[in-house]
Order: sequence, then structure tokens, then C-alpha cells
Amino acid sequence: MHSDKNPFTGQEIWFVVGSQHLYGDEVLKQVRSDALKVVDHLDLSSECIVRIIFKAILTSSQEILNTISQANASPQCVGIIAWMHTFSPAKMWINGLSILSKPLLHLHTQFHREIPWEEIDMDYMNLHQSAHGGREFGHITTIMGVKRKVVVGHYTESRVLREIGVWSRVVGAIAAMRTMKVARFGDNMRSVAVTEGNKVSAQRQFGFEVYGYGLQDLTACLEGVEDSNVIRLVDEYQEQYQVTKDLAWEGNRHHALKEAARIELGMRFFLESGGFSAFTDTFENLGDLKQLPGLPVQRLMADGYGFGAEGDWKTAALMRCLKVMSWGLPGGLSFMEDYTYDFNQGGSVLGAHMLEICPSIAEDKPRCEIHPLGIGNRSDPVRLVFTGTAGPALNVSLVDLGYRFRLLVNEVDAIAPEQDLPKLPVARVLWKPKPDFKTAVSAWILAGGAHHTVYAPSLTQEYLEILADMMGIECLTINADTTLSRFQQDIRTNEVYFKSVH
Ligand code: MN
Repeated sequence: MHSDKNPFTGQEIWFVVGSQHLYGDEVLKQVRSDALKVVDHLDLSSECIVRIIFKAILTSSQEILNTISQANASPQCVGIIAWMHTFSPAKMWINGLSILSKPLLHLHTQFHREIPWEEIDMDYMNLHQSAHGGREFGHITTIMGVKRKVVVGHYTESRVLREIGVWSRVVGAIAAMRTMKVARFGDNMRSVAVTEGNKVSAQRQFGFEVYGYGLQDLTACLEGVEDSNVIRLVDEYQEQYQVTKDLAWEGNRHHALKEAARIELGMRFFLESGGFSAFTDTFENLGDLKQLPGLPVQRLMADGYGFGAEGDWKTAALMRCLKVMSWGLPGGLSFMEDYTYDFNQGGSVLGAHMLEICPSIAEDKPRCEIHPLGIGNRSDPVRLVFTGTAGPALNVSLVDLGYRFRLLVNEVDAIAPEQDLPKLPVARVLWKPKPDFKTAVSAWILAGGAHHTVYAPSLTQEYLEILADMMGIECLTINADTTLSRFQQDIRTNEVYFKSVH
């Protein structure tokens, strides 16, 4: 896996069109020709990162059942877009929709943007019936409880293309999560509650599998690392980062940089050969590792791996899912922890971790430094030190409530720290949570959100809301519109709703 690799390669979204035989073959030919034009427009749009493939004009119960069966069985198909060009009596959709296991988008569009006032006749009216055909489809999907995204508007509008594009990224990421493998090096750290959870429930809900390993499994991979590869990687470090003098070629601590490179190569080999796209470690169980992996973990995150510190497999899996979703978008995405507060000027949060913040969010070229670590009982670890870019971002937490999952999202604004923080030896980002410090922090704590999060400047709440919707889990968002009383009421009403649907 590498940051250059497009995770959506090979994925397809199937475009199907609902109609019926009432209008005769000529109309169906026209429906087909119009649909091909719509699909071409969507597929060629730069917003849609997943290929959109025209699949079929569906006019009978059997055709719909067959197409949906094929979509369910296809590893390439990550979602279905359905458009009702004409009226499509929806009883014929019941059998197909009842087995649908892929995410659905109902595109409520119509072929022509404007009514041709001079020419319009009943033939035109019979051909262009999306306005009521889409309502029939909406009715059956609603009463069957089919999860779907509804996009309304002419298919050439940039807002419509953007909405389809966002959904395509989310369903591509869901497909990646369904086959994701997470490796845990060591177990949970120090009896922490929030980093634990039920891996069986998580696999049932999200599909990802979590595998536990002893550290000897990893250190065995380090032994196979060749010195020439270590030297090549150290060269890459010197090109990509501002490496401090003591770590550089002639420096008195250069051996520590080589050790970090050896750990990175060993971890990469382990993860690649096992097909893992996310992982955890813990400073409490490092086996024969000479350093807590700082720089190696930071670079693996930058290449698209999900990571959770201290055994936090939920955050690791969520992070990989969001790395896929945001692939190619500006802003980066990192593992994060709310570390310490500044109560001045309305309050802000300094986010950081012991070492493991992803350099994709860095404002400037990261510095590569070595400093002591007070915990972990190993040699000083090498790490990248930088400040996160100012601008809008999200903090996202996946909470295991014991009997269901909750996605918790806070919109924040990252700001430049007032001063330099010269003695802080780790990467950091300072933010102001929305709507304000007191409301956001109170709401987060009332919702049981973790201190570990995925920090996502590259995404907006729209992505997370669609993700939760498509997965059938709760999404609580703390943003500029949040009031504490309404948020607490949402928690109560959601509790009833999710008890009734599960
Ligand atoms: Mn932590």
C-alpha cells in the first residue's frame, strides 16, 4: 500500500433505470439512450471517483431481482444508483429490494432540464415521468426501510454531481471496510475502557476483522530487513524531512534513525504480507523493539494505513475507512488525541499524541527529531515534529456502547498556536471546537466520546452522516448549530429509535 495507490481502483457503481412495458419499445429505446447519456456525464465528472457503469433498464420483477442478486454477488460493485426515467410500478421492486445488500442512491433527476413549452405533448409527458415515478420508488423504499441516499436535481448540476461524488467516496470506503484486516501488536493498554470493545459486534456491523499478534511476530520481520534497504530509507528521510544534526549521517545518534528505518521496513513487510490496512500497538508491550515506533507509524499513516495507539482497534479501522474516503482530497487526516486545554479566549484544545500524528496534516516540512520518552522503558524514539495546518476539520470517534455503535463528530477550526512551543517534542494541532468550547466538550462527554479520534481536515460532516446512515448506526454531530439541551434530547430519542430498529 502506498499513498499514490487509488483505493477506488476496480470498484464500480451500477446505474439502473426503472421503467415498464406500458409505453412500447420505442419509448424503452429512448429511455436507454437517455440513460447512457446520463451515465456518461456522471462517469466523466471529476467528482465521481468510483466508475459508474450503466447496467440495465429494469421493467419486471425478475429483471430487478436478477440485477440486484448480481450486484450483491459482485466484489466490484460497491453501490447502486437507481433512476426512474418513467413510472416504474414499485411492486416489481419489492423482491429485489428485499435482498439488496449494497448501498443505494436514488437519483431523482429528469433527462431534460426545462419544459419545452411550445412542443410538449402527451408523448413527452409519458417519457419524462421522473417527477411522479421517483415518488413511487421513494414510497416503496421508505415502507421497506431500505437505507439510501436521495439526490434531487438535474444530473448536470454541479451540486448534484458533488452529492453523488461524496456518496461514491463513502460507499467505496464502506466496501474497503467490509474486507479490512486490522493487526494488533500487543493487547490493550493499562485497562483503558474506551479503547476496548466487542470485536465480534464490530465485525458483524462493519465487516472488518481484528487479528492479535505477539511482538515476537513483528520482531521476526525486523530480523529479515536488509541493511541496504535501511540505508535507502534513511536517505528518503533526509530528503523528505528536516533531520536534526544528531540523527544525520555523521551525527552521534544516527544509529537511532537507522533503527527507526529498520522498524518501519519490518512493520511494512508484516502489514503488506498479511494484507493488513490498519494496525495498533502499545507502549506497554514492545517485546524486543528498541524504540516505541514513532516515525514508522507516522509514515505508515501518511501512506494510508489506519492506526490506533494503545491497542485502539476501533480508531485504527475508522481511520483506514476515512483515509480511503478522503483519498486525493486536500487537508490530510490523522490519528489524534485531545491532549490538553487552554481556557483563555473562549477555550481551545491542543491535540497531539505521544508520537503518532500523521504528517499529512502538517503545515510545513516536518522536522525529524529524537527525544526521551518518559514511559515505555525503551531507547529514545525518533519522531516527526510539526504543527497542523490551520483551517476547518472534524474530530470523529467511533464509540462502542456495548449493544450498538455510535459515530460522534465535532466540527472544529484549527488555528495557529500563539507561540512556538519550543520544548514540545511532538507533532501538534490547536483547535477551537464548534459551536464553542463549553458546549462542544460537554456534548462530547455526554455522548461518551473517546479521547482518541480521527482528525479529518479533508472531510465534512456530510461524509460521516452518509457513512452512519448507510451502515445503520447513529451519528451525533456537534457543530455550529448545536445546543446542549437539543443534543441531550437527540441522545434520548436516538436511544429509543436504535433500540427499536435493532
Ligand atoms: Mn492515547
